[in-house]
Amino acid sequence: MKVTITLKVSENTKQEMIEFFEEFKRPKTPAYAIFQADDADTVVTLYESGKAVFQGISADISAQMWIERERHLNPLKKVETTNSEKKEKKEKEKIVINPKIYYSNSIGSDEVGTGDYFGPIVVTSAYVTKEDISFLEEIGVKDSKKLTDEKILEIVPKIIKKIKYYSIVLSNKEYNQKYSSDINMNKIKAILHNKVLNNLTNEVKNYDYVVVDEFAKPYVYFNYLKDIPNVYRKITFMTKAEDKCLSVACASIISRYIFIKEFSKLSENLGILLPKGASTSVDEVGVKIVKKYGIEKLDEIAKVSFKNTEKIKEKINN
Ligand code: MG
Repeated sequence: MKVTITLKVSENTKQEMIEFFEEFKRPKTPAYAIFQADDADTVVTLYESGKAVFQGISADISAQMWIERERHLNPLKKVETTNSEKKEKKEKEKIVINPKIYYSNSIGSDEVGTGDYFGPIVVTSAYVTKEDISFLEEIGVKDSKKLTDEKILEIVPKIIKKIKYYSIVLSNKEYNQKYSSDINMNKIKAILHNKVLNNLTNEVKNYDYVVVDEFAKPYVYFNYLKDIPNVYRKITFMTKAEDKCLSVACASIISRYIFIKEFSKLSENLGILLPKGASTSVDEVGVKIVKKYGIEKLDEIAKVSFKNTEKIKEKINN
């Protein structure tokens, strides 16, 4: 089986890798990479960020050597690695479905965009009855995490014809006005989840459970809401709720649907393809945008409290 191992290397290990792989380099270098090279049956890619990716049947052997070099050269640092094989096993073990909740009438909520520098935050609550379950399973909602954007664009219009939901889109402008850098993202999530849950539980009466994907311990969640007048409290918090409860899965993919639409509108208006997430490729695109439209543009299209803003400014000033 093909294994992917990633390793974060420090500057000194990076230099050693560059020297070591010089003669094994492939002629083509992927975007943001320093090189891509062959090491027996393993393909090694080193990125400017210091991320090294080893892919192949014996990737672990190739990666192990560099994990040891990183440890040797930087004894005080903790070595960060991930292994696709181990990760898969871990994720499979954790999901235990409670049939009482899965086969109930439930309201679930989920959000997207909180880890993306560009684009809004979207939070949705969705109501799924026992009668909706087989339709939702058939259409592919159960493995919501594995759904591609194309599939989401195809199935969400069919889902929202059948089920009740409520969404809030927090635009970048609103986010930047309301939320300064000292407000924590989990607090924003709690406030928005509470809003969408209040709205839907007011409208719908026949539900057995209200399920929220646990992004903070329940007492922390309610502590974030201590100054808010209407707090919905009868919540079942669950980790990986998206995999265990179809109303959360629906809430997740409806949020993603709205996010995808908003995101492509932003890209179109800018004439620049925006990347998701908050990695270095996001910084590169941020630089392009600022050069084309000025720094104020970020207020309209990005979450300026993210560290990316500083990195973009640094890159422009250098
Ligand atoms: Mg979630």
